[in-house]
Amino acid sequence: MVTEDGWGAGGMTDETCDVLVVGAGPAGCSTAFFLARQGYEVTVVDRAAFPRDKICGDGLAPRTVTMLRRMGLEERIRAAGYIPARRYRIVSTWGDTVMAGMPAFGKGADYAYVVPRRELDLLLVEAARAAGARIEEQVRALRLEGSASGPRAARVLLQRVGGGVFSVRARVVVAADGSRGSFSRTVMPSERLEPYAVAIRAYVEDVQGLEGALSFFLDRNLLPGYGWVFPGGRAGAPANVGLGVKVTALRRRPEGLRALFDWFLSPASSAWPFLRGARLVSPPATFPLQLDFAKGRRREGVTLFAGDAANLIDPLSGEGIAYALESGQAAAEAVARGLRSGRLRDLAGYDAAVWRGLSLEFLGAFLLRQLLVRPWGNGVVVRLLQRDEGLARGGMGVLSNSVPATWLFRPAVLRRVFSPRRLAAAVAASHPARG
Ligand SMILES: Cc1cc2nc3c(=O)[nH]c(=O)nc-3n(C[C@H](O)[C@H](O)[C@H](O)COP(=O)(O)OP(=O)(O)OC[C@H]3O[C@@H](n4cnc5c(N)ncnc54)[C@H](O)[C@@H]3O)c2cc1C
Repeated sequence: MVTEDGWGAGGMTDETCDVLVVGAGPAGCSTAFFLARQGYEVTVVDRAAFPRDKICGDGLAPRTVTMLRRMGLEERIRAAGYIPARRYRIVSTWGDTVMAGMPAFGKGADYAYVVPRRELDLLLVEAARAAGARIEEQVRALRLEGSASGPRAARVLLQRVGGGVFSVRARVVVAADGSRGSFSRTVMPSERLEPYAVAIRAYVEDVQGLEGALSFFLDRNLLPGYGWVFPGGRAGAPANVGLGVKVTALRRRPEGLRALFDWFLSPASSAWPFLRGARLVSPPATFPLQLDFAKGRRREGVTLFAGDAANLIDPLSGEGIAYALESGQAAAEAVARGLRSGRLRDLAGYDAAVWRGLSLEFLGAFLLRQLLVRPWGNGVVVRLLQRDEGLARGGMGVLSNSVPATWLFRPAVLRRVFSPRRLAAAVAASHPARG
């Protein structure tokens, strides 16, 4: 048995709880929040001390805002001075621009925020703590020791940063340790350890002319990825600038990710009109993206995987905070059912719920990505959106995850997209400026 140095100064060993959550990002905090407020004993461990940065675009799309409302956090975001962003902008490989508002996510928000993860994740940690969860910072989960069924059967080996190793027993474990979490891999080694894509991000001051719009750039040099410039979310805040590319595509290029990022900041990129007077205020930093939904892990024995640890990232936009929060809630519901009934198979309901909820949507997003990563594909789409306000709003809805990508396959939408007159006008418009 593992001993030494338990929680805090008391030195207890083999602490027990109903649910141990590994990772206090959006997925872990959401799981803990929804379980703790039902009265379950939840312990969350994170190797970081909060507030901490997480390399991210910081874009909180309407779907994310809707979840944050559900957790009572939107008020706190507004109180901290963050202002809703109501528009998205896309610049195509051909150099055309479309800008439009986004539809609401269901009955929820129809706007976004840009909130640095340093602040957002601290709010989430505080919400989970206030709901009754125990949050242990600077504690790394090393591995799962045993997961036979039975009360408190799962024992997780933990290590306090700079301290001793100890263990915790739980009835259920939720792995929410993100796309490079080492704990998840010890529970269920992934066939595909290599990330699908990799992204780089920096904070930048003196960005001009964004008009408050979250902006995406599909320069040929970035395909099959894209660059983004998101405005600072409140007065005086720096913009968030970054780009993401497929790992296999990056490997074929002579230059590395950092050189590509420097190119994105240069006069050669379509973002230059916004970035011409800008200066970096943080070093560019990289982080992997696991976009492969179908290969994601969802459950192994009494361990559920949530958020990035389960590859729940939109394959088109690369956004994942909404899915982390939603999967955390779905995991909490399945765990609560399992703890009430004592039946392991109730946990399996989580896997089914995630699959039912997202498989079609992510398939649609994947198909749309196949179109948009081609210069002519995004060139024609942006021109079509420029000519039809309704289509443009719907398109921004797809990009911001308010509208499932399957919306595109609705007959009424297809009729508008494939109207010969409009298609001809889109293709025949002035000669491509860029690409
Ligand atoms: C560059 C970039 C830009 C992005 N931009 C956006 C965006 O604008 N909008 C959006 O919605 N999504 C964006 N995403 C995706 C988004 O960042 C993730 O989907 C989201 O953070 C997933 O949340 P999570 O809780 O699953 O994981 P994370 O946020 O990664 O949290 C995991 C936590 O687990 C902890 N942890 C890891 N291993 C261990 C361990 N062994 N023991 C203890 N703790 C551990 C980590 O310290 C971390 O706090 C972006 C991603 C990247 C890489």
